[in-house]
Amino acid sequence: MPIDPYAWLEQSLATIHRADWYRSVKTIYGRPGATVFLEGREVINFASNDYLGLAGDERLIAAGVAATKEFGTGTTGSRLLSGQRELHRKLEKAIASLKQTEDALVFSSGYLANLGAIAALVGKRDLILSDQYNHSSLKNGAILSGAAVIEYPHCDITSVKNHLIEQRQNYRRCLILTDSVFSMDGDLCPLPALLDLAEEFSCMLLIDEAHATGVMGKTGAGCVEYFGCTGKQLIQIGTLSKALGSLGGYVAGSTTLIDFLRNRAPTWIYTTGLSPADTAAALAAIEIVQQEPQRLTQLWTNVDYLKQLIQEQIFELNLLPSESPILCFQLSSAAEALKAGQYLRDAGIFAPAIRPPTVPTSRIRISVMATHEAMHIDKLVAALRTSV
Ligand code: PMP
Repeated sequence: MPIDPYAWLEQSLATIHRADWYRSVKTIYGRPGATVFLEGREVINFASNDYLGLAGDERLIAAGVAATKEFGTGTTGSRLLSGQRELHRKLEKAIASLKQTEDALVFSSGYLANLGAIAALVGKRDLILSDQYNHSSLKNGAILSGAAVIEYPHCDITSVKNHLIEQRQNYRRCLILTDSVFSMDGDLCPLPALLDLAEEFSCMLLIDEAHATGVMGKTGAGCVEYFGCTGKQLIQIGTLSKALGSLGGYVAGSTTLIDFLRNRAPTWIYTTGLSPADTAAALAAIEIVQQEPQRLTQLWTNVDYLKQLIQEQIFELNLLPSESPILCFQLSSAAEALKAGQYLRDAGIFAPAIRPPTVPTSRIRISVMATHEAMHIDKLVAALRTSV
């Protein structure tokens, strides 16, 4: 009897269940926002990356609808083969203006932007130094590129320097990869020190601003602005799907970099262009970010309020170091994290348990939005006080 070649799938799923690593998807109803309908009841939403509350904004919706009516639902092919829309270039110019870079290139997702840029920039003769907590898209981009990859301990600048001293001369090009805001922790990369090392050892530096765009820096340009590094030579990547409330990703940088990526990034060349609706919604979002700085101010007022309540009322919980709207409470096991997530949901709070293999230690992840009201944050803290 031949062995069923798919039998291992069930065994593998059983192992995932036994480790409390099994994931299932919850359905939400209605528009995204500070509260959402989840499994039949309204809950306060601390599970979204919609930091500025734009994903349900009337103006983004109107822009998406208008673009769909004018240009249709799909772009019908890759931009190189089937042509692009003026909207695509308008969005790229708007991203470049927000980021203060010469140009930008829009991809169908942030994940694809990372895969494509990394695979285009380095190859077999090159070296990648990558933070061990980097997002999956950076890690898989590194693998796809074929370069030698060294993962350095989280934010450990001494380790980066030592690797460069030992290894840099053995490779043609070197690319340092880092998230700017670490998505499952909420802390920031040591950008100025990384830039100094990149300059000293002649390396390229790619920073993933997915959770920083619209969130960090005075104008919401990201951690590059937050750290006073605007205008420095580096490769900025990000997503249109978090604070910008739409879908898609981008690379921002020099005209030469963008021109090169248009010719070499496989996940841009060989995939269909971003839909008119997503493009127009992201463009509307950038205009709002630039014209309504009060949203960003409100986001940070909310973060500060939550941090103050945590300090006063639930200081015994293990809050991981954070300088962003992402706050994580570490728990002893995946089972504990699942229990806490369920407890919070029963109390009307949607905040996910994050478990291995996504992170090394289990936790509850809270992400704050500009559109949360003080009462939402009060309820979160009251629930946390009794949950863990
Ligand atoms: N980078 C980071 C740090 C992320 O958190 C994410 C999304 N989870 C991405 C990249 C991918 O972005 P997108 O959702 O647009 O593919």
